[in-house]
Amino acid sequence: MQELVIASNNKGKIREITQMIDNISLLSLNDIGFTDKIPEPYHTFEENALAKANTVYTFCGKNTFADDSGICANALNGAPGVFSARYSGDDATDESNLQKLADALKNHTDKSGYYKAVICLIWNGEPYFFEGICEGALLSEPRGDGGFGYDPIFIPSGYDKTFAELPADIKHAISHRGKAIRKMVAFVKEQLEEEA
Ligand code: IMP
Repeated sequence: MQELVIASNNKGKIREITQMIDNISLLSLNDIGFTDKIPEPYHTFEENALAKANTVYTFCGKNTFADDSGICANALNGAPGVFSARYSGDDATDESNLQKLADALKNHTDKSGYYKAVICLIWNGEPYFFEGICEGALLSEPRGDGGFGYDPIFIPSGYDKTFAELPADIKHAISHRGKAIRKMVAFVKEQLEEEA
């Protein structure tokens, strides 16, 4: 079976991606013996995804992908965006981050926003990018205990429940990450068919 290394330590992302992918054997950082912190010093999802994938690919030489993602509030000019994981500081937790975002939006009438994911796959040494966006609205009060990160305050367009209240399979069908992962899986399938 085709192997891909997933360059992430984020348990929520890894759980979701594992649920979404079949017919590909996913290797964790643990599986390949990578214990360093993965740098993500840039100001765009694309650059961070490339940096993460490249760091791990350089270490193991196996086809590797990284997801860089975040939530963007339109009233805050796209913040926290690429800084979503560390929005409330270096010791940020999912709870402190979402509370900070909910508070920041309290005095704004525009509650619209979106999740964005950019996946960089290093395939045979070359980088390929796959993007997914999921539009929605942000709440001031968290609801639900599924998902991870900002999910308790994010209602995807066309629904009245948060991502933390919706079943995982519905989230995966419409989420930023689901869209980006399906594009990557289609690309890998094409490459394997061409090579066969
Ligand atoms: P990074 O891609 O490792 O920089 O971190 C992405 C951050 O964005 C996560 O730590 C979450 O806070 C947030 N995020 C990205 N995707 C999701 C999602 O699907 N649900 C909730 N939060 C997310």
